[in-house]
Amino acid sequence: MVSQLLDKYQLTAKKQLGQNFLTDANTLQKIVAAAELDSSDLVVEIGAGIGTLTNSLAERAGLVVTVETDRSLAPLLEEVLTGHANVRIIYGDILKLDPLILIEETHLKPKVVANLPYYITTPILFHLLESGIDWRLLVFLVQKEVAQRMVSPPGNKIYGALSVMIQHYCHAEIIGIVPPTVFLPRPKVDSAIVRLIPRKRETNPQTERLFSLLVRTSFAYRRKNLFNSLRRIFSDLGGEKRVEEAFQVLGINPKQRGETLSPEEFYALASYLAKN
Ligand code: SAH
Repeated sequence: MVSQLLDKYQLTAKKQLGQNFLTDANTLQKIVAAAELDSSDLVVEIGAGIGTLTNSLAERAGLVVTVETDRSLAPLLEEVLTGHANVRIIYGDILKLDPLILIEETHLKPKVVANLPYYITTPILFHLLESGIDWRLLVFLVQKEVAQRMVSPPGNKIYGALSVMIQHYCHAEIIGIVPPTVFLPRPKVDSAIVRLIPRKRETNPQTERLFSLLVRTSFAYRRKNLFNSLRRIFSDLGGEKRVEEAFQVLGINPKQRGETLSPEEFYALASYLAKN
């Protein structure tokens, strides 16, 4: 079915765009079910591809706004999606769009559902989560190894900036493992369905920015202890003392490595330093 459709439009999947199209109804159904959709939802999809997931989403959601960077898919997509009046296709690179423009129908609840292009998974996740949009739920199909990093607890080899950022913004869980056989063409690795439920939290833009900087810096110098990686940020401001003080007040050992700090501890550090 997928290959016939591609043939009909004389298209081949573009590897460099991460085009691995879903071919399995069962997997499709699991992804859609995880999003718990009804007509009050606006779903943002990244990567319409040949419209397989888009179609299933449109059957349940109030509105689907799907972003696709590959314009050569347009004739195919328009045909596949003609039956649905509640689908808008936006041709462009998601990383160059402000996600806010995708959710103009503000009376609907914004959610994200996507089989992500694997070569830019992390930038897309950061882009969506740092957009300031009050997403109700996000469901992604990503590489299994990335999903495991997203949900990893501290003190683990795979715990990193992605784990901290995801878990700071959301409650994250893996709800299913998906083998390469459900895609055309088949990727080399297993995939996983991940569901993110954003946490309710007060937001202070200055703390958020500092948090992001602290997290990225701590893991950029993974083998250094926290104090030695973070002093780089504050040395310009003559603020090494403040970092020392923050560690002391918060009861964090400056000799420990960033990979042992929980998302809550990173945030506490950021909010202390933002205030002082
Ligand atoms: N949802 C479809 C396709 C998934 S493949 C399915 O499940 O079958 C990932 C899709 O993301 C591809 O169609 C690819 O062209 C698209 N894509 C890749 N980079 C993108 C970007 N920067 N912005 C938007 N879409 C992108």
